[in-house]
Amino acid sequence: MSSDTSIVWFRLDLRLSDNRALAAAVKRGGAVVPVFIWSPDEEGDWPPGAASRWWLHQSLERLAASLRACGSPLVIRKGPTLAALQSLVRETGATALFWNRRYEPAIIARDTMVKQALAADGVRVESFNSALLHEPWEIENASGNPFRVFTPFSRACMATKSAFTLAPRPGKIPAHPEPVESLPLAALELEPDKGWAAGFSREWRVGEAGAAAELERFLSKRVMDYPAARDMPGVLGTSRLSPYLHFGELSPRQIWLETEGRQSASTDAYLRQLLWREFAHHLLFHFPLTPLEPLRPEFAKFPWLDDPAGLRAWQRGRTGIPMVDAGMRELWATGWMHNRVRMVAASFLIKDLLVPWQAGARWFWDTLVDADLANNTLGWQWVAGCGADAAPYFRIFNPDTQAARFDPRSDYRKRWLPELGTAAYPAPIVDHAAARTRALAALEGMKA
Ligand code: FAD
Repeated sequence: MSSDTSIVWFRLDLRLSDNRALAAAVKRGGAVVPVFIWSPDEEGDWPPGAASRWWLHQSLERLAASLRACGSPLVIRKGPTLAALQSLVRETGATALFWNRRYEPAIIARDTMVKQALAADGVRVESFNSALLHEPWEIENASGNPFRVFTPFSRACMATKSAFTLAPRPGKIPAHPEPVESLPLAALELEPDKGWAAGFSREWRVGEAGAAAELERFLSKRVMDYPAARDMPGVLGTSRLSPYLHFGELSPRQIWLETEGRQSASTDAYLRQLLWREFAHHLLFHFPLTPLEPLRPEFAKFPWLDDPAGLRAWQRGRTGIPMVDAGMRELWATGWMHNRVRMVAASFLIKDLLVPWQAGARWFWDTLVDADLANNTLGWQWVAGCGADAAPYFRIFNPDTQAARFDPRSDYRKRWLPELGTAAYPAPIVDHAAARTRALAALEGMKA
């Protein structure tokens, strides 16, 4: 037993570089016990979906290899978290526990409870910001309230932008003198048994090294075309870093510093998107009910339809609307969908089918490898017109006009819909012009 042993509780920070909790534990000087605790029941309404579980499995494998190489193997346990941590404290004699903060409402409540209980047991408990450029409570408007509009929020972020520093990556991590019991990763049963996720492995190089390589590939070339190419789903125009950011295989501070060093108008456009991520976390923190409820209360009265057949056609990419179907097939095959197409596909579900945005958010939650409660909630409420700084409900995407503008040579649609133009491709399940009129009437009905 060592009196200055520290536990580092890994969560959505699955990296060694710029990991403040890990750096603090190493700096403390004693043994460091890194632990991951699988506790989906503690995530409230949002336990990790199937695609997220697939990613998590790969990511934990990489993290475990990196920690082993540094000298202190990853310990894997199952929840309840408090009991698992208390048992680990007893087994190792640890006197300190460090973690990096998360911002989902159920997690904040759980972490507060864990902090209080372990502090009462005499353990030094400390948490850090390693996931955001700014804490959600650090940015406020002139009257001390949270922002609801992006542009002033982003200006406030830029104004408070302190010089970001990165936590040092540890070379050697001192292990506990006695071996600490761990479950095998397979015991968490994270990988889906069906062949569904098989294609994901070809698509993604999961883990910290993959994240760094992806960032470098993007910044060394693609970022120069980002402002124009980012809206074109047929070209590789965006960074595709969203799953790495969600799982914390890369920190926004690392991206910010790497990008700032090569500054141009293109990099500014890119960094602005990172501020959307910050805005999403700001909103989730200040309006914790929004994953399930519209931020604008009048939308609680919106006359949504119960349309299981329409929802199913949308999920399967068989609506007969090529831009929507291409997106939904990309999602199914890769666990990711281009942002422009996310907007078009979400708009179709919400406005052409009048299916509640929560049903779409739930499907994305299960199938996206970057499923993120803050970003997903913002995205769906933005398209539905019921969130902060949202597109007005009456602005309804025309999927064909969107396709003509952003996929002019049909590259994207042809890639994901090989049967397009043949009898095998379904006829449209709704007529967009009629659906638009119906959606506008529903909006008027809500106001009445
Ligand atoms: P880039 O254009 O390279 O942007 C860089 C980073 O900025 C992204 O990785 C992401 O972290 C952040 N970012 C970019 N756009 C947004 C945005 N609009 N909102 C918040 N952050 C943004 N993003 C998720 O990470 N998880 C989700 O679950 C999610 N669900 C969405 C649902 C809908 C309906 C919509 C319209 C958008 C959603 N987004 C979500 C936002 C956006 O589509 C993705 O972040 C983006 O497509 C990821 O690709 P990229 O990394 O290549 O983005």
